[in-house]
Amino acid sequence: MRENLLLVAIAAGVLGGGLLGWLAPEQAVKVAWLGDLFLNALKALVLPLVFCSMIDAVTGMSGRGALGRTARLALGYYVATTLIAVVIGLLLVSFIRPGAGVELASGVVVETPEAFDLSTLARSLIAPNIFEAAAMFQVLPILVFGLALGAALSAVGDVAGPAIAFFRGCNAAMLRLVNWLMWTAPVGVGALIAARLGAAGGGAAFAAEIAAIGLYCLTVISGLLIHALVVLPLILRLFTGRSPWSYGRNLAEALMTAFSTASSSATLAVTMRLSEQRNRISASCSRFVLPLGATVNMDGTALYEAVAAMFIAQAWGIELTLGSQVVIVVTATLASIGAAGIPQAGLVTMVMVLEAVGLPLEGIAAILAVDWFLDRCRTTVNVWGDAVAAAVVESRTDPGAPGDIAPG
Ligand code: ASP
Repeated sequence: MRENLLLVAIAAGVLGGGLLGWLAPEQAVKVAWLGDLFLNALKALVLPLVFCSMIDAVTGMSGRGALGRTARLALGYYVATTLIAVVIGLLLVSFIRPGAGVELASGVVVETPEAFDLSTLARSLIAPNIFEAAAMFQVLPILVFGLALGAALSAVGDVAGPAIAFFRGCNAAMLRLVNWLMWTAPVGVGALIAARLGAAGGGAAFAAEIAAIGLYCLTVISGLLIHALVVLPLILRLFTGRSPWSYGRNLAEALMTAFSTASSSATLAVTMRLSEQRNRISASCSRFVLPLGATVNMDGTALYEAVAAMFIAQAWGIELTLGSQVVIVVTATLASIGAAGIPQAGLVTMVMVLEAVGLPLEGIAAILAVDWFLDRCRTTVNVWGDAVAAAVVESRTDPGAPGDIAPG
């Protein structure tokens, strides 16, 4: 009952925020601080939660030898579903051809993001100073350190008992904090949406921005819908026998949070709480698969990057060979893995895709105006993909104990 009330309140927040931003942009930007408060509170939980979850999951699994199997399954799932998403994007963009004949303003000067390549990705795995990495909100090195520390704590035996219990306790407390925080979500989520739409100039300006490259937006959104509403539910049903509808409904708050924050990492605490409490995903699985997924598994981002690259090629009149399209499949997959779970990270890692097939980086300017909106859509799909991953991986491993956090 209380949970339903919260869900309705958050949905009302999304709608109310959208209406306010659409109709009264000047007033809407004034509520930005409320959204920032909510976002900051969510972000404050990310690093401690990722660190404690990894330790909790690894120490919980190693005794049963399930860690290796879970990791292999999770990574296999991430790569497979990301590849499917990219292929859907490529097929749609080749069929719809949103870039054909589009006149893009030339001579627009954009600050091109810093080059991103595989070595950057590899280097980001290990930080020389984890406090500095934490201060810069770099999730991947914290996750890797948590993983290593968890493995070491398991290896040293009884002496590690109190340390393991400490991290487990912190983890449970962090998830309880999310429970409390979600009661502020209706206002936080609404304010985030209102302020962003207000900053874009309100409904009329937003509609004009979308209309300018409407076919491109339509291609990205159709691809995301096919992946989220057909492919992932099918995978969920086939591998776990769960009902996609009730699984998704239980996650609705996380999906709305993802849409309003445009950050899988900021949403992680909510996804984890709902997965354990409502979808009864085992603690060890949720605490391993979800933080890893929020950092590396981004189906929506991969699909978007493939569509965007092809759109730029079409608009510039560059015909890409089949070989180049295969390069796009591979690089968009890698670029989505390298993208951090923060707003518009996909736009930065897209440089890797464009460079790999020799497309002009100025193309990014053409899609920049609508990126804030598409970012929200793809982040929602990214979070949904992570949650489905948790169920699929769990169904193929020893489920262990269900989430040990009591509702409240
Ligand atoms: N904002 C996305 C996320 O957090 C990443 C991106 O595609 O920019 O999942």
